[in-house]
Amino acid sequence: MEGYHSPQVPVAVRLNTNESPYPPPAAWWEAVQAELADVGLNRYPDRAATRLREALAAFHGVGVEQVFAANGSNEVLQTLLLAYGGAGRTALTFEPTYALHSHIARLTGTAAVEEARQADFTIDADRAIAAVEHYRPAVTFLCSPNNPTGRMEPRPLVEALASPAGGLLVVDEAYGQFADWTAIDLVRDDRPLVVTRTYSKTWSMAAMRLGYAIGPAPVIADLDKVALPYHLDVVKQVAGRLALQYRDEMEARVAALVAERERLAAALRVLPVETWPSEANFILFRPTARKGTEVWQGLLDRSVLTRNCANWPRLDDCLRVTVGTAAEDDVFLTALAEVLG
Ligand code: PMP
Repeated sequence: MEGYHSPQVPVAVRLNTNESPYPPPAAWWEAVQAELADVGLNRYPDRAATRLREALAAFHGVGVEQVFAANGSNEVLQTLLLAYGGAGRTALTFEPTYALHSHIARLTGTAAVEEARQADFTIDADRAIAAVEHYRPAVTFLCSPNNPTGRMEPRPLVEALASPAGGLLVVDEAYGQFADWTAIDLVRDDRPLVVTRTYSKTWSMAAMRLGYAIGPAPVIADLDKVALPYHLDVVKQVAGRLALQYRDEMEARVAALVAERERLAAALRVLPVETWPSEANFILFRPTARKGTEVWQGLLDRSVLTRNCANWPRLDDCLRVTVGTAAEDDVFLTALAEVLG
């Protein structure tokens, strides 16, 4: 099988992995270092990450027994599939979507089945419900806003799919801070719905590798059985808890990125590319007169790295660009206009 592939090459402008272009607040990093100075590094960290989970529970207004944290939301997804996937079980995705959902399903021996999105990348609710009834998946994935297409899923769709027929519905909200509603509000102990989130994007902490899930207490208890002991190191337990004290700064970054995204979207509209509306910190586009991979290479030759989706199923010739700083985006736009001639 193919492994995960996303080139990490030295470039001047890195717009390929949807990180925040802004560093986290300096005061947060000072507070993290001050607290770590008193940590006994010879001892294992708190296995339950209690204080981090308590802070996340308070932040989202849920019970502490409804929170699980891991090394990036990818590890959260892996833990969910270790718990609920496996031989003889099925995971359903709506393609195109985040490739790791089906990839981790296969890694855990879970059969990956898919339903296609419509031409505009939205999901037809009736067909989605029919797919769930047909496949009877152990796990159904939604991604909202959806990577790499950018649109949010509507609340009625999430409500319809969060039923026992769909097994466990996992709503991946890696870009949830950009959305105007969150499925976290729908989490209840008697509903088969888990929402995953990450610190990698708007919290500006991609290097830390920290993500979490909010879900029914019995599901969280299952995740705790599957996770390796002491999997979450003390640095990220402290860093993740203290970051939540800088919510205003995080929301200011989100607002700045949304404004910049709209500027970038407007600039793309006057170039010979097809684009789709985005409610996240990236934009999917397809050059209309040139091959996607040639454009990706042309950008790379100008030291601008975007995500090459050109050979991904249902994304022929598409590239995805992360919203960067205005200066980075200007370099990208100039390079793109040059490449497109
Ligand atoms: N879900 C989605 C939709 C993503 O785009 C990403 C990052 N590419 C992740 C999960 C994983 O994020 P992390 O493991 O950094 O939390």
